[in-house]
Amino acid sequence: MRIPIIAGNWKMHKTIDEAVQFVKEIKDEVKGTDVEVVICAPFTLLLPLKEAVKDTNIKLGAQNMHWEEQGAFTGEISPVMLKDIGVDYCIIGHSERRQYFHETDETVNKKVHAALKHNIKPIVCVGETLEEREQGKTEEIVKNQIRKALAGVPGAEVTQIVIAYEPIWAIGTGKTATPEQANEVIYQIRETIKELYGEDLCTEIRIQYGGSVKGSNAEEIMNQEDIDGALVGGASLKADEFVQIVNF
Ligand code: PEP
Repeated sequence: MRIPIIAGNWKMHKTIDEAVQFVKEIKDEVKGTDVEVVICAPFTLLLPLKEAVKDTNIKLGAQNMHWEEQGAFTGEISPVMLKDIGVDYCIIGHSERRQYFHETDETVNKKVHAALKHNIKPIVCVGETLEEREQGKTEEIVKNQIRKALAGVPGAEVTQIVIAYEPIWAIGTGKTATPEQANEVIYQIRETIKELYGEDLCTEIRIQYGGSVKGSNAEEIMNQEDIDGALVGGASLKADEFVQIVNF
């Protein structure tokens, strides 16, 4: 039985006061939920948020990390530092990181290994561009991203990973994949996991959808058979809408 996971990706938004206020507003509203609730916040908010989410069912995630434990990497944050704060999850390979910060399938794979080593659960993002979809390449692109991201990850650890299928054309654009389109690709991702790790593990791993999920469309997306939750960008910034999504 897979427990759905709804993770907010705040991207580069919110001050400390705004973040703490957000948790105050949602914590009682989400405490009865059956889904796992995660807020993936900018680095500056993680420590105050750790305090704010104490005694709640809200977990904390970062949005990126380096794969090395320490060193001369100006501006970077290591998995050891994230674990020091008590972070549970880290988004890895978000399309904005791939597009603007030159992340590749190879660096994604290094980060996945580093996160697992430090008991941080990776939320690994994959997804195709509009051009790739129109050329009928979605399945090939996404399967390839999955194989490369998971290369060398043993079966004993793979279920710690959450996969987020995020078609790039649906992120921040207001365009959502139809629930059927999202479910179809997520089914293909599960088939890839089956090829790599076998039937049992493929039914355990959680695969989210991300791309313009809102309060108004969360239920139909989450009701799809293979979709185990959502990675939510813009709509996770508003407390009332995030609550609506969690309580779909
Ligand atoms: C995201 O950034 O992961 C995302 C899905 O954004 P949005 O919900 O705003 O499309």
